[in-house]
Amino acid sequence: MKVKVTDKCIGCGSCVAITESKIFDFNDDGLAECVIDKISEENKELVETAINNCPTGAIVNDDGLEECAVDEIKEEDKEIAKQTKDNCPTGAIEIE
Ligand code: SF4
Repeated sequence: MKVKVTDKCIGCGSCVAITESKIFDFNDDGLAECVIDKISEENKELVETAINNCPTGAIVNDDGLEECAVDEIKEEDKEIAKQTKDNCPTGAIEIE
């Protein structure tokens, strides 16, 4: 798991405090950045806590892989979801 801080960061410091500057810390602009390359299994819960407490949703997955942005697909979006699934060259998308 990799994460990055986007330009939505307002420098509130929540993620820095939660991870005691070991995973997120301030850069020279007073904004947060992830200071480690890869999140280990043991740090995942802490990072998820930081993600869930970020007031602006600035911390995002940076694995280079896409993930579904919604928990449930609305009725009107089901056809788009089906087309996306049908067009995925590797069959990586599953619709539950
Ligand atoms: S919690 Fe979010 S807004 Fe606050 S410093 Fe961290 S990334 Fe920036």
